[in-house]
Amino acid sequence: MFDFDVAVLGAGTAGLVSAFVADSLGARVALIERDKVGGECLWRGCVPSKTLLRSAKVWELVKRSEEFGVHVEKPRLVWSAIRLRLADVRDEIRKGEREQLAKSGIEQIAGDARFIDAHTLEIQSKGETRRVRARKFILATGSSPVTPDIEGLKETEFLNYEALFERPNLPKSLVFIGGGPLGCEMAQAFGRFGTRVVVLQRGPQLVPHEEPEIAEHLLKILRAENLEIHLNVHVSRVEKVGERKRVHFEVDGQTQFVEAGEIMLAAGKKPRFEGLNLETAGVKTGEAGIETDERMRTSAPHIWACGDCTGQQRFTHAAEHAGKVAGANAVLPIGLKVNWETLNWVTFTDPEIAHIGLSRDEAKAAWGEIETYRADFKTLDRAIIEGEAGGFALVFTTKSGRVLGAQIIGPSAGEIAPTVVAAARDGALIQEWAETMFAYPTLGEILHRAGTQAYQAQLDSKVLQAGLKLWHKLEPKLG
Ligand SMILES: Cc1cc2nc3c(=O)[nH]c(=O)nc-3n(C[C@H](O)[C@H](O)[C@H](O)COP(=O)(O)OP(=O)(O)OC[C@H]3O[C@@H](n4cnc5c(N)ncnc54)[C@H](O)[C@@H]3O)c2cc1C
Repeated sequence: MFDFDVAVLGAGTAGLVSAFVADSLGARVALIERDKVGGECLWRGCVPSKTLLRSAKVWELVKRSEEFGVHVEKPRLVWSAIRLRLADVRDEIRKGEREQLAKSGIEQIAGDARFIDAHTLEIQSKGETRRVRARKFILATGSSPVTPDIEGLKETEFLNYEALFERPNLPKSLVFIGGGPLGCEMAQAFGRFGTRVVVLQRGPQLVPHEEPEIAEHLLKILRAENLEIHLNVHVSRVEKVGERKRVHFEVDGQTQFVEAGEIMLAAGKKPRFEGLNLETAGVKTGEAGIETDERMRTSAPHIWACGDCTGQQRFTHAAEHAGKVAGANAVLPIGLKVNWETLNWVTFTDPEIAHIGLSRDEAKAAWGEIETYRADFKTLDRAIIEGEAGGFALVFTTKSGRVLGAQIIGPSAGEIAPTVVAAARDGALIQEWAETMFAYPTLGEILHRAGTQAYQAQLDSKVLQAGLKLWHKLEPKLG
């Protein structure tokens, strides 16, 4: 009656993880992909962007090498070699995925899928059509870049991330429309490679989901690296002038323009589900994406969804988390739920920005009065040793010290984050970081510093000081 127990649409992170989980629980699984297995993360997202950022960091260190007592003669940046390394990195990562797929019982089907009834998919591939029937489905179709409604944009060629990573030559100049985390990461990388970079950001700060002082610190760093950054911008028009592209924008009622060889769109993403014919299957969608409950079940009881297509937390690790929940729930009646309480993410600029749990405003809204502890990298021994002594950590806690969230801008902030994640998950007190040994000299000691402030505040409390005074008076008499 059914060809498969579970058919998964999309072989990005969410689809792969949910398929592996369903397969490991004994289901007969089909994994349908119309493009390349691995999805956005591998082909046009995390992997290529972080690989370029690594090369940009190495180049930056080469330029700073004298500072470390190392003299480098005539260093050269070779874009084709950077792209070759990117191909190697992708291959290495794909190898693991391929091996796992080969070992599994998952049947891979190449093609573009859409529902023709609640249990049947029509899959088109290279002019051929195949029908697949499944008892249950998992939708993991990802997201696509938003093209803002700007006059002239559609007629003027522009780049998206995929095209940016595949460019045979390093662009001489780039205007980024959008200064969110991904825009900032790539603007910095290309700026370091020598591309003249302009960033046009709509709102009052870069990286709008971060605390204003974090965004301000990043802005200073990027401007110091000669990136031209405009905030509070309304981009009104785009036109081609000869071989160049001109972007007109307004700031404070004044019209200005910038010109560059290429326009790079970094204006956000939208969930992808058009053409899937979801109405036929009874799946409800909204502006944010495919609607699901906490168990990642859609309005159709036999269909689950996970990853970017749901609009919930658009990160690879979030796609993995939701994929596990969807994969398990599609096979077993166990009702697993997603837990976004300790959601965390990293913006891989240099320095990195880590965001864990509640922001300052979210913490205030949930807990009323809160405490904020700030520790700076400039006095942290390891940061000084590394020559990376900038940035700071902000930790938000309840009045009694329970860790609610943190934002860190500083060297390897992303590697420090898991300690905060564990504390927030376990309801730990910030003072516990003061009582715990952190190996010296490490960057993670920044949290020990923040914890020590809370510990010291407890020691300084009037009641404790009065008690100590009394103790020192009485102790000699007690012998
Ligand atoms: C430049 C950039 C950098 C990023 N960096 C990070 C980062 O550092 N860390 C992080 O956590 N996240 C990062 N992200 C986000 C991350 O890439 C995504 O959140 C994640 O890849 C989403 O996975 P997914 O499985 O939901 O979707 P996708 O990986 O997009 O997979 C969806 C798949 O479904 C397929 N598909 C769609 N429709 C159909 C159909 N009808 N039939 C068959 N197949 C279909 C698509 O071809 C695609 O392969 C970055 C994104 C970008 C663009």
